[in-house]
Amino acid sequence: VDLGQRSYPIEITTAATEAFPASVSKALPDLTHAVLIHDEAVESYAAELQQKLSDIRPSVRVDRVDVPSGEPSKSFQQLQRLLDAMLACGADRRSVVIAVGGGVVGDLAGFAAASFARGIRFVQVPTTLLAMVDSSVGGKTGINLAGGKNMVGAFWQPHLVWIDTQVMNTLPERSFLSGLAEVVKYGVIDDAEFFCDLERDASALVQRQDAVLRQAIERSCQSKARVVNEDERETSGRRAILNYGHTFAHAIEATAGYGTLLHGEAVSIGMQMAASLAIDLGLCEADLLTRQTKLLLDCGLPVRFPDADVQAMLPVMMRDKKVEHGKLRFILPRKLGQVDLVGDVDQANVVKAIHAHR
Ligand code: NAD
Ligand code: ZN
Repeated sequence: VDLGQRSYPIEITTAATEAFPASVSKALPDLTHAVLIHDEAVESYAAELQQKLSDIRPSVRVDRVDVPSGEPSKSFQQLQRLLDAMLACGADRRSVVIAVGGGVVGDLAGFAAASFARGIRFVQVPTTLLAMVDSSVGGKTGINLAGGKNMVGAFWQPHLVWIDTQVMNTLPERSFLSGLAEVVKYGVIDDAEFFCDLERDASALVQRQDAVLRQAIERSCQSKARVVNEDERETSGRRAILNYGHTFAHAIEATAGYGTLLHGEAVSIGMQMAASLAIDLGLCEADLLTRQTKLLLDCGLPVRFPDADVQAMLPVMMRDKKVEHGKLRFILPRKLGQVDLVGDVDQANVVKAIHAHR
């Protein structure tokens, strides 16, 4: 990720935890104290990283704090608990936070790093596919308020994103496939050639074949990094393209009841609705939807949502941050690898797009 002084490497390994100490040493040569914050679901993995780091760098003290699994942990309560724990274990401005977990722990621990002593360094070790290809890259950190997700947070870039594909051996199938929705997203919004490769490799990818999986993560991270490099703090609007399918997805997630669908599953259906909307508005050819549908199905993802409640979804969509002067705006495809922010979209077209995928 190329952000001047805030640049950092994304390393992808299939060599498991062995490679971790060397990567950390390279990114943070002066390291003396690390606080490893991990999801309780990956406790033994986190313990292994702690062990490897202390064995190979005996001069580095590594403390470990766990976080309960699940979205409710993105809270003030957990943030406070972490900050207290950091202080109690003697963390100071030279300490480094190492976040080991999915997007929940990455966002929470990243925000703890951004807040502690007005900001200390941190490392992302994502353990879900979604976190590897999306949340660990780009520097968005934060927690939720009762009234809204990610409403409190900071842009705080990590010093290293270290991805070990082996950690996903324990990741449940549904969670893995859900992450693939974001992978397909990068093909549509940024990289047509990648989309074609995914069409060819979908079955190997679903089986988590190492080389194919690694490639998919690498190219997804490259796309994400490209977008973040152009618009680190979401000021030019470029970063909004990462929202492809998400306006529909958030409305589906909210009205289906959180937990009914995984985020990536909602994104899959949302991308279908967005593609239909684009076709209806004459922005792109029908072939894009045909190919996207096949690829999503090949990735084991849902492409329709029979329970979609249009009347309930619309008000949620009107609260989207892309709404301007009461008009809905969407990230819509022009062709594979290219999307635009399209404003002034009529509700009738939106309703039609939702109905097309019920
Ligand atoms: P998550 O962190 O809740 O992880 C999903 C589940 O998998 C959890 O139950 C967790 O305990 C478990 N888990 C994690 N790694 C595992 C492993 N290796 N083996 C077995 N189980 C494992 O969810 P997620 O999908 O990774 O992330 C979702 C979060 O990411 C949301 O809070 C979302 O807001 C955030 N997010 C942030 C950004 C960003 O730019 N910062 C982008 C996208 C999403
Ligand atoms: Zn997403």
